[in-house]
Amino acid sequence: MTASYPFSAIVGQEDLKLALLINAVSPEVGGVLVRGEKGTAKSTAVRSLAGLLPPIRVVAGCPYSCDPEAPNPECPAGPHPEDAPAEERPVRLVELPVGASTDRLAGTLDLEKALLEGKKAFEPGILAAAHRGILYVDEVNLLSDHLVDLLLDVAAMGTNHVEREGVSVRHPSRFILVGTMNPEEGELRPQLLDRFGVTVEVTGSPDPKERVEIVRRRLHHEADAEEFARKWAGRTGRSRPSSGRRAPVSPVPPSPTTSSTRSPPSAPNSGWTASGATS
Ligand SMILES: [Zn+2]
Repeated sequence: MTASYPFSAIVGQEDLKLALLINAVSPEVGGVLVRGEKGTAKSTAVRSLAGLLPPIRVVAGCPYSCDPEAPNPECPAGPHPEDAPAEERPVRLVELPVGASTDRLAGTLDLEKALLEGKKAFEPGILAAAHRGILYVDEVNLLSDHLVDLLLDVAAMGTNHVEREGVSVRHPSRFILVGTMNPEEGELRPQLLDRFGVTVEVTGSPDPKERVEIVRRRLHHEADAEEFARKWAGRTGRSRPSSGRRAPVSPVPPSPTTSSTRSPPSAPNSGWTASGATS
């Protein structure tokens, strides 16, 4: 897997970066919806978000990302013994393709195991993989209605519950929801729009110097993603919110030692909108 584009190497797009940082500091804000035409680096910026988040500790091998400090006693892969080995891993960014099936999102019966071993087993889906991470939907406005309904249910409950062929599985699924969309391709259902804490409008930079810099960095990244990531790693580290305890929801306190951005606006109630991404 090639290294993803570093957050710190994104040129301009200050509002977008701010919205992502706010969610990195305080996932309770409720996710980001990024609206903008093609070619505004929406997806690139979103994919770099995972690199900003501090790594998490999980019960080793648990596909439901149980926290070793407080494993889910009803974990479908458990119960985990008290001395279950733990591991630290980066936060995942899991992508939900707009054409995914409900089974792919929610999980389904593991038919192979059922047929080979005669056991009823559950194969976790995207909602399990995204727990304690980021769920990213590109072209979120094109998501089919049955996936939107399921997503809204799970987002509201923080739990995914699947019943299939006599197998009942329930597991926690809490994630930062991030969507990108091109408004020219249709609007978002109001119920889903309400789910995002922050909406950002992005536009391409009109500044020729900035455009040249965008292309220069993109070419460098494409030529050698690893080296490019190393070059920017220090700055991404400085952008990363301090790990450990989460900051309170609002106001988000500026952190002078770890963040180089201006301080976020206070009390971002659901639905505040930033616009005019480039100056
Ligand atoms: Zn578990």
